[in-house]
Amino acid sequence: MSHRCPWPGCRTAVPSTMWGCPQHWRALPNDLRAWIGRAYRYGQMTGSHPNQSWRDAHTAALAWIAQHADRQQSG
Ligand SMILES: [Zn+2]
Repeated sequence: MSHRCPWPGCRTAVPSTMWGCPQHWRALPNDLRAWIGRAYRYGQMTGSHPNQSWRDAHTAALAWIAQHADRQQSG
């Protein structure tokens, strides 16, 4: 299973074990990456991935991107 990198405009296919492509994963701040990583491991342990806490972290990441990607892509 793979999915698309959730970063707006990015079409890179990434494995289901990763949140997004390496380039955009590294673009996230450390606390968001830690949050997503923690929620993801928990979901795998309980067999309920993607779980609610992962979705919360994912939503927070998308909100962060919406704020910061604006400045990078003016146009
Ligand atoms: Zn990407």
